[in-house]
Amino acid sequence: MELNKFHIVAFAVLIFYIPVGHSWGIDGHLIICRLAQPRLSKAAADAVSQLLPADAENDLGSLCSWADRVKFRFHWSSPLHYLNTPDNLCTYQYNRDCKDEDGRKDRCVAGAINNYTTQLLSYGDSSPRYNLTEALLFLSHFMGDIHQPLHVGFTSDKGANTIDVHWYKRKAVLHHVWDSSIIETAEERFYDAQVNELIDALQKNITTVWSDQAKAWETCDKTSCPDVYASEGIKAACDWAYKGVHEDSVLGDDYFLSRRPVVNLRLAQGGVRLAATLNRIFG
Ligand SMILES: [Zn+2]
Repeated sequence: MELNKFHIVAFAVLIFYIPVGHSWGIDGHLIICRLAQPRLSKAAADAVSQLLPADAENDLGSLCSWADRVKFRFHWSSPLHYLNTPDNLCTYQYNRDCKDEDGRKDRCVAGAINNYTTQLLSYGDSSPRYNLTEALLFLSHFMGDIHQPLHVGFTSDKGANTIDVHWYKRKAVLHHVWDSSIIETAEERFYDAQVNELIDALQKNITTVWSDQAKAWETCDKTSCPDVYASEGIKAACDWAYKGVHEDSVLGDDYFLSRRPVVNLRLAQGGVRLAATLNRIFG
């Protein structure tokens, strides 16, 4: 077969978008940012629209996976997408756990959320010290990542990236099941394969059945509260993601249907909290 222009373009697109470990898939991040943007205050919405590049057309969701795409160009940023906790302890402590593989402190997803929150608080200063467009895109992405339970997983299996399973008939690693497979299977089975329909369903739940809880999700005594989200994350990882799964487990309807509500909850919490954090930053 001769390669024509289409094949080359298709190949380039494929390489560009090959999902790598350590992140919700494209849909997970899109969902969280699309849930957040309509909840922004006027001040926060104005700041976000100022900071987004013009070609994003004021759609934060369109750039919520940007941080994954620059992982190789900004090599220093790749440890900022997750954190690891001691195996089987099922607890998280910032001072113990927020470090990269070389032991450098603060280089984890919780530290990154603190850092980019601080940078964004300088919005409106007369002499800008930071690239606040990048800060906004990193913060929006990492607020998503910290809500993926296996981004706050165990150390020895790298957040379940080394646990091979079968998602129905397909081979997968457990981390990827939580990044993408549960969301994609839900979209195919319940939402006509339309991510927008899943977003609408979650948005509706946030304003109805979850409306009281949503107020509690927003509560934070500082500008951002990543330690709360990471503690919830490792608990969900132990109670749901790792639970009952072994190397070569076949995960099918039992696992999918019982874990789907956890994924929905974490996506909703991520969206509500991203909006609340941006509202506090720019408020
Ligand atoms: Zn990520």
